[in-house]
Amino acid sequence: MTLRSNLTAALSLLGPWLCLSQLPACTNKKPDVPVVVPAAVTAKADKAPAAESKSDFKITADRFADVRILRYRVAGFDKLSKQQKLALYYLQQAALSGRDITYDQRYAHNLQIKRTLEAVVRSPGIDKSSKPYEALLSYLKRVWFANGIHHHYSSKKMLPEGLSAEDFAALVRSADASLLPLDSGQTKEALIAQLTPLLFDPAIAAKAVNKDPGQDAVATSANHFYVGLTKEDVERYVKERTVSDDPTPISVGLNSQLVKSGSSFEERPWRVGGMYGAALSECVAWLQKAMEVAETPTQRDALGRLITFYRTGSLEDWDRYSVAWVEDTTSKIDLIHGFIETYGDPMGLRGTYEALVQIEDDEATKRMHTLSGQAQWFEDQSPIDAQYRKPNVVGVSARVIEAVMGAGATSPTMPGGINLPNAPWIRQQHGSKSVTIGNVLAAIDEAERDNGVLEEFGAGSRELERAKENASLARALLIDLHEVIGHASGRLAPGISGANETLRQYASPIEEARADLVALYYLLDPKLVTLKLMPSLDVGRAAYDAFVRNALLVQLARVSLGDDLEEAHMRGRQMIAHWALEQGAADSVIEKVSRGGKTYFAVRDYVKLRKLFGKLLAEVQRIKSQGDFESARELIESHGVKVDRELHKEVRARYAVLNVAPYTGFIQPELVAVMNGSEIADVKIEYPDDFAAQQLRYSERFSFLPVRN
Ligand SMILES: [Zn+2]
Repeated sequence: MTLRSNLTAALSLLGPWLCLSQLPACTNKKPDVPVVVPAAVTAKADKAPAAESKSDFKITADRFADVRILRYRVAGFDKLSKQQKLALYYLQQAALSGRDITYDQRYAHNLQIKRTLEAVVRSPGIDKSSKPYEALLSYLKRVWFANGIHHHYSSKKMLPEGLSAEDFAALVRSADASLLPLDSGQTKEALIAQLTPLLFDPAIAAKAVNKDPGQDAVATSANHFYVGLTKEDVERYVKERTVSDDPTPISVGLNSQLVKSGSSFEERPWRVGGMYGAALSECVAWLQKAMEVAETPTQRDALGRLITFYRTGSLEDWDRYSVAWVEDTTSKIDLIHGFIETYGDPMGLRGTYEALVQIEDDEATKRMHTLSGQAQWFEDQSPIDAQYRKPNVVGVSARVIEAVMGAGATSPTMPGGINLPNAPWIRQQHGSKSVTIGNVLAAIDEAERDNGVLEEFGAGSRELERAKENASLARALLIDLHEVIGHASGRLAPGISGANETLRQYASPIEEARADLVALYYLLDPKLVTLKLMPSLDVGRAAYDAFVRNALLVQLARVSLGDDLEEAHMRGRQMIAHWALEQGAADSVIEKVSRGGKTYFAVRDYVKLRKLFGKLLAEVQRIKSQGDFESARELIESHGVKVDRELHKEVRARYAVLNVAPYTGFIQPELVAVMNGSEIADVKIEYPDDFAAQQLRYSERFSFLPVRN
C-alpha cells in the first residue's frame, strides 16, 4: 500500500509519523488524500535558479482551494554516477509516459476536459487578466491536482468556482481551435455543448467512487473501470475467475476495464496493443533504455519482467515481476511503476496507474543501521521487566528513500511511505519492501514550521527556539526508534498468544503506544549523543515538547467536534501524554497553562517525564506480554479515547484561524538530459517552482492517449 501524503501531513502535524511496520497490506486502506500562480502562465517560465542553496530553497510554492503545493529536494542526486543518473532519467520518462492513463481511469471525459481547459490557457489570444480566465485557471489547477474532475480525497465532483457556463463557453470560443481536442468535423459550439453539463451539472458523474451503501457502488461510480455493469455483475465475474485453494492467486481484474455487452463481459486489458496501448508502448521503450543502464542483473531482470507484463497483460507476468522487484534489495535506485493501488475502484480490484522513481537515502539509512546495530543494548537497558526482554533482539530493518519524482496517482499528492507489493501470497513467501520517503516527509515538516501551528500551540519561547533548531532531527529519530527498536523490542510470556488475539480492539493502540514509549524513553538517553545520532539532549527535549503538544492539543484539530478519538496512533499518543500529565501532576512534570484564554501544555521536568515514560512502558509491555485485556481496555478507554469538549472546541477554533491547507501536493523535480550531439552527455536535476507551468509542460510532452479510450 501507499500511504498518502495528506495522511502523513496530518500525522506529521499531529505527532510525527506514520508507522509502516504495523500496517498489514491493504487492510487499513486510506484513500488518497492544491494555491495561486500568476494569471499569465507560459510553459517554460519557471526554471528555478540552479544555484538555489539549501537554505533559500523555497518549500511552499502555491496555495489554492483546499490545497498547498510544496517542493522537495533530492539531496543524494549529486553523489550518483552518470550511469545512475541516466537510469533515473529513463525511469522518469517511463513514469511520465503513462500519466494520461490515471486521468482516463478516473473518468472517461477527464482527458477531453483537461485538454480543453489547457487549450484555453495556452491560447495566445485570451485575456489572461480577466476574472473568468482566473477562475478557469484555478479550476484547472484543481483538476491537475486530482488527476481529473473529482476531488482526490472525497472523490466528489469539483464544480468550477467563480466560472459560469457562459464564461466557460466564451473562453473556449476565443481559444485557438488548433489547440482544442476537437473530434474530426466537430465545431467549438458542439464541444462546448458536450462539455457544459459534464462540468456544471452536479448530478452528472457526481462521485468517482460511490461508497454509499444504499446505492450500487459500480453502477453509480463515475470512474472508467466498468462500463454498463452493476455490483452484482462484478461479483459474478470475480467468482467465475477465482480459482479456489490457489496458493498463488492472481490479482483478478487488476489491469483491465470491464465492459458489459448483452449478457457477457468483455475484458479490455491495459497492455501494449490493447487499451492504453499508446501510452504503455512509450513506457516500454523507456524501460528498455533503463534496462541497458541497470545497476545490477537483478534489477535488469525485474525491469525485463515489467516490460513482459506490459506486453502480455498477463497477471501471472505481473506476479513474476512483483517477486523480482521485491527481491531486488541491493540497488540504490528503485522504481514503482504499474497498476498498483485499488482505492479508485469501489470493488477494490482495478489498479490506478502510478509511478515513483526513488533512490536510497544514505544518511537516514546509516542512522537506521547505527540504531539496529545497537538493538541488544537498547533491549538490555529497557525499563521493562527482565522476563519480557528478548535475549537476542534483531532491529526491524526499515529503509528510507528519497523520491526523485512521481507520476500518475503518486503526483501531485505523494505517499509518505510505501509498503508493497500488495499480493498477500507474495508478501508471505517473498517479503515486502517497506520504506519511508524521507525527503517528502522532510518537506512537509519544513512547511509545517512555516504555517504558524508551532507558534500558536507552543507553550513558550524556549520551546519554540528548541523546536526550530531540533524539530526535524527529533522527528526523524522518533520515527527511527519507534520502527527499528520499538516494534522489535519485548517478548510474550510463555504460552500467551499474540496481541491481536488477546488484546483484540486494543492491540493496535497498545502496540503503537509501546513503540512510542520505547522511542520516547531513549530520546533522552545520552547514548544517542555518544552514538553521534544527536548533537545534544536538546533534540530529545524538543521531541518531548512536540509529543506532548501534539498529543494533547494539535491532533484534536483533525477530529470532528463531538467525536472521540478512533485511530490507533492517535489513541496511543493521547493515552501516553494524558497518563503522564496525571501521574506527574503532584510534581508539575507537565503543566497545563492558561494564557489569554488559550490552553498550553508545558513540560517542566524532562528527567521526571522520562521516568514516567519508562514506568508506563514497563506496564504496557506487561499488558502485551501477559495478554491482559482488562488493563489494556482500562488504559486506553480512560486516557486515549475521550476528548475534553471545551478544549477540543478551543483547539479547532485556534487551528482554523491559521488557515492551514488540509491537502498537500508537490511540484516534481525534473531530470534534464544535457545533449552532446545525439548522445546524452549528462543528466541535471532542476527544481521548477511553478505548478501550472510544470503541468502544461508535462501535457505537451507526455500526451499519448486519445481523448476517448
Ligand atoms: Zn508503529
